[in-house]
Amino acid sequence: MARYIAAKCKLCRREGEKLFLKGDRCFSPKCAFERRSYAPGPHGQKRTFRRKTSDYGLQLREKQKARRIYGVLEAQFRKYFADALRVKGMTGANLLQTLERRLDNVVFRLGFAASRQQARQLVLHGHFAINGERARIPSLLVKASDVITVGEAGRKKAYFKDMSKILEHVTAPEWLSLDAAQMKGNVLNMPSREQIDTPLREQLIVEYYSR
Ligand code: SF4
Repeated sequence: MARYIAAKCKLCRREGEKLFLKGDRCFSPKCAFERRSYAPGPHGQKRTFRRKTSDYGLQLREKQKARRIYGVLEAQFRKYFADALRVKGMTGANLLQTLERRLDNVVFRLGFAASRQQARQLVLHGHFAINGERARIPSLLVKASDVITVGEAGRKKAYFKDMSKILEHVTAPEWLSLDAAQMKGNVLNMPSREQIDTPLREQLIVEYYSR
């Protein structure tokens, strides 16, 4: 299963904003973007403060930003877009809804992980179940009324020992509900655009793929 493995902080610096890819570190003074808020590489500073970006450049950057936030490679992202085109409704909102429904994102949104990357690892290690069935595929899309739980084996791991207490401080998005004591999440409905707080201008992504 292919995935992006190079330094995550470079992605924030390339996009010129914090994408919050590394959990707690993103909120600490160790955040690379706080220290070097320009593009990586020897000409990064020049590139960041150079001329105005073209329309194409803006569209490309927004698409890349979305991919990086959700940790999706280009081929998969393109497939999500093709699927979003086929579904009724606004293509951009459909695309965001699909990204939000990924199991790794749901695990992150429910507070079981500090970042989507960590959530992906936890899913790959088989620590979660959907409707009682072990789910090890981070890209799995959840549906309304699905129940996400920490599996029996996972509950014995040190990582999940004090998880209930941590989850008590988590506010799940409106389309999910969280039972901290039971370490259980429910999908109440498919997320609408208003219920997705990811700072993305999806219309630019639609324009990028519609060129
Ligand atoms: Fe981005 Fe987080 Fe790295 Fe800061 S610490 S640059 S927000 S991934």
